[in-house]
Amino acid sequence: MRRISLFGATGSVGESCFDLLQRAGGADVFRTVALSGGANIARLAEMARTLKAEVAVTAYDERLDDLRAALVGSGVEAAAGATALAEAAERPADWTLSAIVGAAGLAPGLAALERGGTLALANKESLVCAGELVKQAAARSGAKIIPVDSEHSAIFQALGQDKLDTVEHVTITASGGAFRDWPLEQLARATVAQASTHPNWAMGQRITIDSASMFNKAMEVIEAHVFFDLDSHRIRVLVHPESIVHAMVTHLDGGTIAHLGPPDMRHAIGYALNWPDRQALPLPVLDLARIGTLNFREPDEERWPALRLARGVMAAGGAAGAVFNAAKEQALDDFIAGRVGFTDMAACVADTLDALSGEAGFTTPPPDLETVLAWDRAARRKAAR
Ligand code: NAD
Ligand code: MG
Repeated sequence: MRRISLFGATGSVGESCFDLLQRAGGADVFRTVALSGGANIARLAEMARTLKAEVAVTAYDERLDDLRAALVGSGVEAAAGATALAEAAERPADWTLSAIVGAAGLAPGLAALERGGTLALANKESLVCAGELVKQAAARSGAKIIPVDSEHSAIFQALGQDKLDTVEHVTITASGGAFRDWPLEQLARATVAQASTHPNWAMGQRITIDSASMFNKAMEVIEAHVFFDLDSHRIRVLVHPESIVHAMVTHLDGGTIAHLGPPDMRHAIGYALNWPDRQALPLPVLDLARIGTLNFREPDEERWPALRLARGVMAAGGAAGAVFNAAKEQALDDFIAGRVGFTDMAACVADTLDALSGEAGFTTPPPDLETVLAWDRAARRKAAR
């Protein structure tokens, strides 16, 4: 039986993965090693019982007793906190989903890579903050990383056996998020509720707001730069309101291979789960005659300054990705809490990058997780100020 672990099981990506596992036969087919979640203890325990997991881990130390109580009689071990998360990721497994949101996903993802197997990577923050460390850990153990972010899964699939050196550029698409068509002067007054809706995808709140600000796409450009080893100028972004084409690979011979699919994360998750094979997935078959028209346009960098910031981060290298992500997470916390406005987020991230770029070591890729986390803390402090 294939041994699997799911980090961030109770989130939007985690739930989609759970759905696929259940449809594929659940505990009769997979041996679940570890499941992790946050504050939703009841759901974490329910999933752990259903999949007969070895261990369930909540991110929060103070919720350990609740988790224990919810798991009484199940035979599932209960654990809590960041150290327990990393330890759970060290337990041998053949396939691991990294779907915690934010830099908190970095340590368990790295631990899973160190022990080998396949890592289905939804946590884009890992590649943005610590791309070199992630790749080095995979190289040491021989672990394989399969991207779960839909655009990167699409590039991976469109590339197939083709070599990257015949690729002229790749294009990732962006829906444009909640404020795609808003008058620019209204953006500063956009509310959290307005930013938390998405025209095409159902996702966690943080990534949904990041889609409205394009910080999500900015993160994804950096993610593509790290994962596929492509220079910044070989990664383009197109606004595509229908979210049907997820990415395109344009070769030097003029051929462009596009990946199309319904906007449903179960495709990318299921692809990663079944890789290198393909299996039937519970997704609607694309009906282009019904969709009729697909639209594309250049992103407007005045509306979405995050994209310009991402180009700066790739040019700077070193610790810039970790600083960028942490400043963005802090600015997002402050926006959600009502402390800053929607357009203040990009300004805050730009200021934080400026301020920390003069510090010693900024241009050196962080050599270890501790250094990444030190930059992360410094950036959050500066951004919060
Ligand atoms: P979510 O908010 O729905 O779920 C996040 C999960 O992480 C939950 O299980 C939560 O309990 C856990 N978590 C939150 N904070 C934690 C912490 N400090 N420590 C440990 N665990 C913690 O998020 P999501 O939308 O499923 O996104 C997960 C990841 O996948 C993100 O990196 C996101 O960018 C990426 N992603 C998501 C989608 C999507 O459709 N939702 C698409 C592409 C990529
Ligand atoms: Mg994506």
